[in-house]
Amino acid sequence: MDAATCHMCGRLFMKQTRSPYCPSCNEVDYQNFLKVRDFIREPVNKQTTIGGLVEATGVSELDITRYIHEGRLIIKDNPALAIGCVRCGQPTNEGKICARCQDDMHKELSILQESMTKQSTVRAYRLD
Ligand SMILES: [Zn+2]
Ligand SMILES: [Zn+2]
Repeated sequence: MDAATCHMCGRLFMKQTRSPYCPSCNEVDYQNFLKVRDFIREPVNKQTTIGGLVEATGVSELDITRYIHEGRLIIKDNPALAIGCVRCGQPTNEGKICARCQDDMHKELSILQESMTKQSTVRAYRLD
């Protein structure tokens, strides 16, 4: 077991999980997550923005962004709630990476795979 400094309160604690928080802050963090999740699930709050969400729940934008990045908070049903894509910075409600970048990355990957296949074909041809 390692000692770690809690990212929320700065106290030293014995690290038992992968969480950056001490057990008491972990509990607070989880309650915050539930608050945010329950709020955006309400049909009347479907059009909430990140600013409105911060105001209504008291949870910081940084934490909300983290819930989304961790894949815990799904905001697909909340079109007005968008956070910056980690790749291009454009607002997205797809999660960590916007749909366009996901597309781009797929394309880049297939181009890479294609060029690798081509290279091996060339190599095979030269061996003939
Ligand atoms: Zn703590
Ligand atoms: Zn993007």
